[in-house]
Amino acid sequence: MKNRQNSIKFLGKPVSKGVGIGPVHLLEYQSSSVRPEKIKESEVDNNLVKFKSACELLIQEYNELKNHAQTQEAQDILEAQIQTLQDPEVNKTVRHKVKNELLKTEYAIFTTYNDYIQLLESSDVDWAKERAIDVVSIRDELVNAVSDKKKSLDLKEGEIVFATDIPPATMVKISRINVAGIVMERGGATSHAVILSQSLGIPCVINVHWKRYQIKNGQIAIVDGLHGDVILNPTEEDDKRYSEIKEKDAQNLERALKWAHKPNQTTCGSQFSLRANVEFLEELPRLYEYGAKGVGLLRTETLLFEAEEFDIDAQVDFYSNVMKAVGEESVVIRLFDAGGDKLLDDADEEANPFLGWRGIRMLLDEELLLRKQLEAIYRVSQDYKNRLKILIPMVTKIEEIIEVNRICEEVKEKLKGEGIEYDESIEVGIMVEVPGIALIADRAAEQTDFFSIGTNDLTQYTLAVDRGNEKISGLFDSFHPAVWKMIKMTKEAADRNNIPLSVCGELASKPEAAALLMGLGISDLSMNAGAIPYVKAVLCNHSLKEFQELADQFWGEPDARKRDKLLQKWKKF
Ligand code: PEP
Ligand code: MG
Repeated sequence: MKNRQNSIKFLGKPVSKGVGIGPVHLLEYQSSSVRPEKIKESEVDNNLVKFKSACELLIQEYNELKNHAQTQEAQDILEAQIQTLQDPEVNKTVRHKVKNELLKTEYAIFTTYNDYIQLLESSDVDWAKERAIDVVSIRDELVNAVSDKKKSLDLKEGEIVFATDIPPATMVKISRINVAGIVMERGGATSHAVILSQSLGIPCVINVHWKRYQIKNGQIAIVDGLHGDVILNPTEEDDKRYSEIKEKDAQNLERALKWAHKPNQTTCGSQFSLRANVEFLEELPRLYEYGAKGVGLLRTETLLFEAEEFDIDAQVDFYSNVMKAVGEESVVIRLFDAGGDKLLDDADEEANPFLGWRGIRMLLDEELLLRKQLEAIYRVSQDYKNRLKILIPMVTKIEEIIEVNRICEEVKEKLKGEGIEYDESIEVGIMVEVPGIALIADRAAEQTDFFSIGTNDLTQYTLAVDRGNEKISGLFDSFHPAVWKMIKMTKEAADRNNIPLSVCGELASKPEAAALLMGLGISDLSMNAGAIPYVKAVLCNHSLKEFQELADQFWGEPDARKRDKLLQKWKKF
């Protein structure tokens, strides 16, 4: 019988949903230290050969991994590792230390890479700090390869990975093994490891602070990627509770998936549209399975963050891949929404980034970037007529819309001059995610083809609640009447001006909110693909009249607790 005293609980930051239960596998790849050792003149050649062979071996391994990587993102990560191994400056320094300072290869590698790591770690920019983790892993793999201590990743299916941080190449290897969960001490919410765990559906919790002696390989752990709980050596009670949650999750999904391919209509025959929000190519295979009818929001920022050299061709590839994955459906491409929590590497630090240089503000200052993105979209459009739309983020002024429309015309003229075909009829819409633009939605509607309400930012800006601040996360309430007033006003303005409107914020992924939105006459919703079957099951099982009654009651109820009660039954399907 397992008792409570042996059980240890941690609370971290949940970053990838689901419950994982399995034996612990602690990843320790830091070759803590390498002793300084000198060699004789006669050993120099041998040491240099060892270094060369180790580099070649690792490059070959990374290339193999790269060739089998299933996503562009994974390939890019591995390519960056290969380039580091081929870096002429680094290699020259190692060789110099062996040849001129007579240092043993392992130590020459260790010290050279340490200088490089220190440089990256002391940088002010986040990408450099994250890159340092990758370089640490190359250092250690190289040292191990030279000293013939190369270990393979003997991770097994169903294990829970515990790691300080996971370098990208290791994460790519992990992605091939069906692990049950990932727990990291470090790692940012946007680190490669987190991004990949989300795409692969691996429950993941970060910022968990354990002591090394608390973790033993093979002991059972539970990872709750929804709430951030990590339990080591769980009690029978925990085991039972989480096994039930896991089982229930799986049953619910199975039940919901039965709706995925049914027609999108309510019991009274009213049509609705459910599309997916997409950011990574890894998400595309799930779209059909979950019944998404196209992409209602394609976030494009990762192109900016990932690309070593940002160019039109890389974008054309990305957009084409998305178009191919949606069959006959359409895709709304949002222009780069960098800034806020999606910071560019070289952007100056701002006191209030969410109120700062983000979205269209940045794009109009960096016009070349905007023109390149528009050019890439128009180029792709020639093969996908009537199936692409453009969405402008973070609009606060009518003039911003007018300016983008003008630049679109110029880009089209340029392509015409080059004899490149494109879709003449691409619609350009705006995100309504700032109260200021919702308040003048009638005027905005005159200048734009459609509205897409971004409830994440609309909530943050309406309620003055930073969407990323854990301390006030309880105040981030998209069901606040003020947010609904904004949504309602925007819908009314769209109707008056005869333009389509959709909702693409996280709010739409909650079945009770989808029911409310239907009640307001908003039937075009975009959300993370995983939420679609659940939302669809609720919408298919009720009539428009029921949704309207719900919306009327909700709207007329001044008491927050009673409003919440009204929504309870809509949370289940
Ligand atoms: C939103 O703000 O609701 C939205 C969909 O955009 P993002 O979450 O990318 O800011
Ligand atoms: Mg937004």
